Amino acid sequence: MAQHPPSPMSLPSSSPNYSSMEILLNQFQSFETIDPRTGDVIARISEGTKEDIDIAVKAARRAFDSGPWPRLSGTERAKIMMKFANLIDENIEELAALDAIDAGKLYHMCKALDIPSAANTLRYYAGAADKIHGNVLKPSRQFHAYTLMEPIGVVGHIIPWNFPTSMFFVKVSPCLAAGCTMVLKPAEQTPLSALFYAHLAKLAGIPDGVLNVVPGFGEIAGAAISSHMDIDAVSFTGSTQTGRKIMEAAAKSNLKQVSLELGGKSPLIIFDDADIEKATELALIGILFNKGEVCVASSRVFVQEGIYGEFEKKLVEKAKAWVVGDNFDHNVQQGPQVDKKQFEKILSYIEHGKREGATLLTGGKTVGNKGYFIEPTIFSNIKDDMLIAQDEIFGPVLALKKFKTIEEAIKSANNTRYGLAAGIVTKNLDIANTVSRSIRAGNIWINCYFAFEDDIPFGGYKMSGFGREYGLEALHKYLQVKSVVTPIYNSPW
Ligand code: ADP
Repeated sequence: MAQHPPSPMSLPSSSPNYSSMEILLNQFQSFETIDPRTGDVIARISEGTKEDIDIAVKAARRAFDSGPWPRLSGTERAKIMMKFANLIDENIEELAALDAIDAGKLYHMCKALDIPSAANTLRYYAGAADKIHGNVLKPSRQFHAYTLMEPIGVVGHIIPWNFPTSMFFVKVSPCLAAGCTMVLKPAEQTPLSALFYAHLAKLAGIPDGVLNVVPGFGEIAGAAISSHMDIDAVSFTGSTQTGRKIMEAAAKSNLKQVSLELGGKSPLIIFDDADIEKATELALIGILFNKGEVCVASSRVFVQEGIYGEFEKKLVEKAKAWVVGDNFDHNVQQGPQVDKKQFEKILSYIEHGKREGATLLTGGKTVGNKGYFIEPTIFSNIKDDMLIAQDEIFGPVLALKKFKTIEEAIKSANNTRYGLAAGIVTKNLDIANTVSRSIRAGNIWINCYFAFEDDIPFGGYKMSGFGREYGLEALHKYLQVKSVVTPIYNSPW
């Protein structure tokens, strides 16, 4: 739990305790979190400083060195994690509302997907907590040798704003199962659900000091985590630019273990034999899901020349019919971008695309006169070296390109500094196999997209980072191997 400062969350004017909260807030630095539908302030959040991170790390260190959590049996840890997961389910509507209001995410999607999937991620790793073991190594020699899998210690988690709940649990769940203690900093844009989860963790019985949530800014609280001398590992999800700073800080401080899940510019390659209806659906969801604020968004779509014309026509029709608006409305498909900074960044990329000579097929404008809404935007006549084909825009902006041969598609798809994901649409198994093995990316989706499951490892090649989330691979990030060797005298071998 957050030890210090207390985390006063209050509604700005309607809360009956507003005046006392205000007095409390005056004692601490605080920052505003805003509703991207309107730009209005939702709440003021106490801002974690370097000193606060230090206090949280001390609590986590104490909990690791002498607290019960790493010493409990895996079964005992699993029981508490299961209770935590059940509490998430019991509070699903409130949690969905917090992520929706803070991040501009679709409320119904948070309720149907983000929140229940996160509870299941906790359950998946609860199931793994009592199956952590080392190996007995080959016995045919004069030594008896075995390995122990030990928790890595105190872990720092720094998470982004696009999936506040999924990112929280993709980090915290395997880390808890491994028996580590931790300090987590949510993104400054979306601190609300993380604070609620800290509260639920306490209710579930996670001991004090094990899970410390400190909201604050990246340059201050985030940097204090990555450069801390008493944090053993840092797990980060966010931009490649920030990932580089985190790795540098880790190297300059105590060489803490680093894992980075960074940006992407993922290709979706559609071949002539594809079902055009299904392929346009995949391409549209691939870029517009969560308003394009997805590290694996299919922001580059390559379509083979035989179906290109029909595909482009259908895709544009569908993009024009896509409903942008209030993300609490069930009929809306796309809410506002997370904040003014992202909104302006996306619009400047759209302007850049026009200047670079790409053809704007649809979109490109803002929607409404308040908040941060942007039309689904599709550019065609893309050249691989254009900025809109190279940079991660993190918005509803698609770059569409025609190709002739499989070799040309592979070359274009790999013409990126990123390597997070790729999609392939074809009925031809040989093409699917060849392309899967030729694309330098950590995740390949054939005839599907965004196919996430708790046991499927996820992570990047190239400048999309290293280390894997999900699966037992993620559990191993929070464990370290100890080899124990003892001589055997008078061995019969
Ligand atoms: P964006 O620019 O899209 O907000 P970031 O990668 O900067 O993406 O943010 C992801 C997370 O990284 C957030 O929690 C943010 O506060 C944190 N962060 C930003 N800058 C730093 C930094 N210099 N050191 C550590 N964490 C940082």
